[in-house]
Amino acid sequence: MVSTLESISRHYLKESVRVVIVALDWPQLGEATYRPGGIATIKLSEVLTPAALGFVFFHELGHLVLGHVALPGEPALLCAQVAALHVILPESPAVRRLVELEAQQETEANDWADAQLVEFERQFGPFVDAIT
Ligand SMILES: [Zn+2]
Repeated sequence: MVSTLESISRHYLKESVRVVIVALDWPQLGEATYRPGGIATIKLSEVLTPAALGFVFFHELGHLVLGHVALPGEPALLCAQVAALHVILPESPAVRRLVELEAQQETEANDWADAQLVEFERQFGPFVDAIT
């Protein structure tokens, strides 16, 4: 299944992508990063249900395709860090901009995932059936 997800990812991103199923801290269900050395990596939570897998996979792939993910050597902006900054410095305009940017990127990734999942399932049938 993981190698199929890697092939699908390569099709969209036009570069190699590593996909791993791991334990992530709740409520995180997925994560897209560039590992040192520049390998795009999608982590998917081992607790994802089959019904949620397709959307979360395309959401994380969307962050890569849409250029939301910091390249190696650039500081990564983690959701948890933004949330912490928002609590510590709620009045800071810079923090407010970060919160807004993150919200915008989440919306973009969700919209991209919705569209790609519909198109994928139109072509190949239910996501989980197609990848297993
Ligand atoms: Zn996201």
